Amino acid sequence: MPVSPSAMKRSLVSLAVATVAGIAGIAGISAMALQSAPSSPPPAENAGPAPSPPPSLTAEIRARAATLRDEALRGTRAYEIARSLVVEVGPRPAGSKADAAAVEWALRKMKELGFANVRAEKVTVPHWVRGQESGRILAPYPQPVVLAALGGSVGTTDEGIEAEVIEAASVEALDALDPARVRGKIVFLNVRMERTRDEKGYGDAVPARSAGPSHAARLGAVAVLIRSIGTDRDRVPHTGGTRYEEGVPRIPAAALSNPDADLLAAQVASGKPVTFRLKLGSRLLGEAESANVIGEVRGRERPEEIVLIACHLDSWDLGTGALDDAAGCGIVAEAARRIAPLRPRRTIRVVFFANEEFGLSGARAYAEAHAGELAKHVLAAESDFGAGRVWRLRSRVAPAALPFVGQLAELLRPLGVEQGDNNESSGGADLIPLQPAHVPVLAFGQDATHYFDWHHTANDTLDKIDPKELDQNVAAWAAVIYAAAETPGTFGPAPDYVPEP
Ligand SMILES: [Zn+2]
Repeated sequence: MPVSPSAMKRSLVSLAVATVAGIAGIAGISAMALQSAPSSPPPAENAGPAPSPPPSLTAEIRARAATLRDEALRGTRAYEIARSLVVEVGPRPAGSKADAAAVEWALRKMKELGFANVRAEKVTVPHWVRGQESGRILAPYPQPVVLAALGGSVGTTDEGIEAEVIEAASVEALDALDPARVRGKIVFLNVRMERTRDEKGYGDAVPARSAGPSHAARLGAVAVLIRSIGTDRDRVPHTGGTRYEEGVPRIPAAALSNPDADLLAAQVASGKPVTFRLKLGSRLLGEAESANVIGEVRGRERPEEIVLIACHLDSWDLGTGALDDAAGCGIVAEAARRIAPLRPRRTIRVVFFANEEFGLSGARAYAEAHAGELAKHVLAAESDFGAGRVWRLRSRVAPAALPFVGQLAELLRPLGVEQGDNNESSGGADLIPLQPAHVPVLAFGQDATHYFDWHHTANDTLDKIDPKELDQNVAAWAAVIYAAAETPGTFGPAPDYVPEP
């Protein structure tokens, strides 16, 4: 739909802020983002439920949680839920027709799973489309390459952009270049992502995608090519949101598949001038309506106290959003469904967030719409890191609640889970807007060794999900979330995240 230029500008500003927060949150190294996030001491009226003794697992709750854990290992419906979203909706970028279909799907599915208060809460999202895209090395050795526009990239003209290529090994190396050498050129950011079990590899490499285009534009570049932020060697590019800085020209930006980045680097290494033609048909169409979809297991004794468990409903356009994030939705919905017959003390609220990928629109809308209720959010967690096994339980809870997290980790020990630190950066990108309210978080760290072979690519498809690994996730979530919803005592207020040096 058409929007006024000022409305568009406002939405782009918030999008830019949101995107860096989102990217950093996903990466789990959100130093930069979280320094800019509001960070004030918790005001008394906003410091969570009234003070009570720290939570502690009783033998009875522990036994029920252990049963939930062990029964889930025998098989769950998590894969079936994820499969349903992937098969019946497929790729569902924010603002698209499929995004609306995903909202309908989620409403149907949550009712079918037996949740209470199933509803859609309206969210306005930006609608960006990819269009046709192509790239070609023109000299010294002409050949086509495989690439994909970064999410949010502006397009080129129909003729495309033709320019000489200048390579930089990192954003810092780019910043150090003489602007006279960069002006009028296409910057090639050749940053190779390291394979790690946790978020570190992604976190270290992702600034090339999120910040690279504006850094290059500041030096006068006309376009940016990055090496895909991914660990595979497939001829498949990885998309993902980029963030244009205010006041800096918006230049087209695309990711080369890893083998094509190798090829371009080899031509640059020949010492001969390399020229490239980039054509991107991507553009921002304006705003569209989407929704957060919410369902609950109502608490039997303190229904106003909320344990929030989340995933995101949207996906990038290239794959089918199986790992990112149908898997997460399958995990949290199935965990809640299995807990429901036990009728825990507090309410478990399942939220499928709108538009995580392109600006955290749903998460921001939720924090705003539920501002008066955030003090009653006793705990929050999001599943958005693929479909690998859980191997670590991290947290950001009040120090007094830390022994309880230790008891939860102990409960998960038979699943191969260890306790991590109490300085989890976000608990999931969609939980970042809850940070000013000091909502405590738990993070079920999944094994991401292979996740970034497929993340944000055409290869994010159902075959990458192992149903048994999803069951292991459900076992961990069901046990922990039940224990948290049943055990009296507060987990907050959460301390501020302290960026690692
Ligand atoms: Zn995701």
